[in-house]
Amino acid sequence: MESFFRIVGQNLQPGVERRARNARLLILEAAAEMHVTDRDTGKQYYLDMTPELKADLAAYHGGHCEHSSSEVRQRRDGEGAMHFYCQCLTCGKSIGSALRKVPELASSPPWQDDLENTFHRARGDEYSDLIQKHVRIQKNDEEGFRREYDRYLDSPEWREKRTRVLKRANGFAKDA
Ligand SMILES: [Zn+2]
Repeated sequence: MESFFRIVGQNLQPGVERRARNARLLILEAAAEMHVTDRDTGKQYYLDMTPELKADLAAYHGGHCEHSSSEVRQRRDGEGAMHFYCQCLTCGKSIGSALRKVPELASSPPWQDDLENTFHRARGDEYSDLIQKHVRIQKNDEEGFRREYDRYLDSPEWREKRTRVLKRANGFAKDA
């Protein structure tokens, strides 16, 4: 699936690539664990789909832009003709179709191309931080578990159990 999206994602319009990327994220997140890169080490890490991670991902995907503030801006098309659109001031997307060209719109501010890119970069950073937060949490859990386990291996209960098991194994060995 990963390679399928990598192929599909190649040489496509940014919007299409983004949709392919989002679809790929949803597929990854539907699994019981996610294969991610640990930013602290650069190594691969299998992230368990814990309820906490699931909740954070749901909040992230629910946090898309509501286009609550926008402004009419003028945008030049490929042929150099000027058009008027509403641009969302948060995510930079155009809202609705082109507006009718009336003289009052001529003084509208210019379209901001970088707004959309900046927004998506910020969303990408937010996602990456969310993943890294859980990598750190789960790594600490693993370390905690390992420490507990080491302590157990050092304990009198374990030594006693181990001696018993070894004695029995020795007994079997003698019988054989
Ligand atoms: Zn928006």
